[in-house]
Amino acid sequence: MIKLDKYSYIFIANWKLNGNYSFLKDYYQKLNVNSDNCTIICSPSIYLKSLKGNNANLFCGAQDVSSYKEGAYTGELSASMLKDNNIDFCLVGHSERRQYFAETNNNVSIKSSNLIEENIVPVICIGETLEQKEKNLTEEILSKQIKDSIPKSANHQNALIAYEPVWAIGTGLTPTLEEINQVHKLIKNFDTRFSNFRVLYGGSVKSSNSKEITGLSHVDGCLIGGASLKVNEFNKIIS
Ligand code: PEP
Repeated sequence: MIKLDKYSYIFIANWKLNGNYSFLKDYYQKLNVNSDNCTIICSPSIYLKSLKGNNANLFCGAQDVSSYKEGAYTGELSASMLKDNNIDFCLVGHSERRQYFAETNNNVSIKSSNLIEENIVPVICIGETLEQKEKNLTEEILSKQIKDSIPKSANHQNALIAYEPVWAIGTGLTPTLEEINQVHKLIKNFDTRFSNFRVLYGGSVKSSNSKEITGLSHVDGCLIGGASLKVNEFNKIIS
């Protein structure tokens, strides 16, 4: 298991359904990883194996995993298969998975638990929709997501939480800095077991706002979608 505590910040690139071999080659030639921080690239799974270089602070992450361990489940990849391929992290419960693939808190919990058994760090994504925010339901929604999607086996050394307001993903909108910090504090204070968890912020992070966001007292890093596809932009964020 990766020693998460030794890193000042954790940065995760989520390439989603983007990239190809020539993109990958160019990206890795230009990527500038900072040794104080943990940098994780979540490419589409088929490219994961070709990412692993020798940089000790650069890791591969999958974007999803099956909730099944093995069997007749065509198209799926299990946690043990990811481990076999040197994958150390995996996003779980990203809002696009919840929205387009009907992923539930229960699925997220099972997947996270299977990953932890294989010594892969689940990055458990939670976040409210705009409608929920406008109805002042953020705390209630997050509390349910935390309770139902974080398995008992998760702790601050083997799992990460990513707070990603759904309305901020890919929209260019972000909560205020104060709101981000408040929500992260809330997450860490839901239960004493979460107080030492590293909580990452995700949603329209770019080089022009990443410094202020990571400078917040309760933010331990960022999960970056669109901006992580431009390597020069991502280099600025992780520096
Ligand atoms: C994401 O995909 O998790 C994400 C935060 O996307 P973006 O940075 O594009 O908002």
